[in-house]
Amino acid sequence: MAGIYLHIPFCKTRCIYCDFYSTTRNDLRQRYVRALCRELALRRDYLRGATVETVYFGGGTPSQLTEKDFESIFQTLQDVYGLEHAREITLEANPDDLTDDYVQLLRHFPFNRISMGIQTFDEQTLQLLQRRHTATQAIEAVQRCRQAGFNNLSIDLIYGLPGETEEKWKHDLQEAVNLHPEHISAYHLTYEEGTPLYRLRETHRVNEANEEDSLRFFTLLVQTLREAGYVHYEISNFCLPGHHARHNTAYWQGIPYLGCGPSAHSFDTDSREWNQASLTAYIDGLEKNERPFEAEKLDNDTRYNEYVMTGMRTRWGISLEKIATDFGTKRLDYLRQMAHPHLQRGKLIEKEGRFCLTEEGIFTSDDIISDLMYV
Ligand code: SF4
Repeated sequence: MAGIYLHIPFCKTRCIYCDFYSTTRNDLRQRYVRALCRELALRRDYLRGATVETVYFGGGTPSQLTEKDFESIFQTLQDVYGLEHAREITLEANPDDLTDDYVQLLRHFPFNRISMGIQTFDEQTLQLLQRRHTATQAIEAVQRCRQAGFNNLSIDLIYGLPGETEEKWKHDLQEAVNLHPEHISAYHLTYEEGTPLYRLRETHRVNEANEEDSLRFFTLLVQTLREAGYVHYEISNFCLPGHHARHNTAYWQGIPYLGCGPSAHSFDTDSREWNQASLTAYIDGLEKNERPFEAEKLDNDTRYNEYVMTGMRTRWGISLEKIATDFGTKRLDYLRQMAHPHLQRGKLIEKEGRFCLTEEGIFTSDDIISDLMYV
């Protein structure tokens, strides 16, 4: 079992909080798609023949791709890896790209999941963030995808935004629930160095949410979505039963994946590779059958820490048997010792051979996870 991530590094405009690798140089799109297909072909052995179960078009803005682009990419995926066993094929999309025509075009391809970056339904905040869409466009885009027959929709929200109040966040959550998407991801805003938003905070033109407010917003998020029938299956992710994101869940469970495109990461359980975050270097390299990338061999401690860090964030937690088998009984003893106080305080539980955060533990997950990691 394996996944494929395709990074589509084009955005019409840049949002002021974003530090993902993308560019507004759409003139390079066709050359890029050829390079991406070449990378997919060149790295055909990376997954060691594992069955591809998920494909994720992320970005950037994959909904900037055209029919021809999708045709080339899907043809390559089919020829090189086969898509017969792909259970989830996701397209990240900007709401304003999801016009009637575009949604119909998507139906001609094997996408069965659309993930929309809505972020907030507050018009003023959308403008401040320099998102391209309005709240109305977001709502209409969801409805349009539904009418076209997409029955697995995900929306992204951000909270702790400049000027966020409990009322505004409640409103965002209510609007989200009203749309009844199968999946909701909600992340706290982070001020990434180098972004325009970071500079606004440094010059005191926007204020960062304080810790107390952030905790209130998170509590509201968890309560509202639980009451609406969503399963809280990862710290920042919620789904209607049976609709967890298979691709991302595979990341958290340490399943191998191939990442193609500039800045994309790949993981084969022993090592991690990441392509250089430069579109021109990527295209120039691939046109000569060379891929600009770096790699890191993962030692035992790093693999243990990654497993604990990602696994503990999910409702399935971490397997004690896996810890003993993959990392040794000494490491299991260490884990048990570090987990003990949290088990005593009811923040962690041991069930069916796994350590999981309790509902209470979720609120202090960072501290607990950092205690369980090996330093
Ligand atoms: S559209 Fe997405 S990737 Fe592009 S700048 Fe905005 S947040 Fe970043």
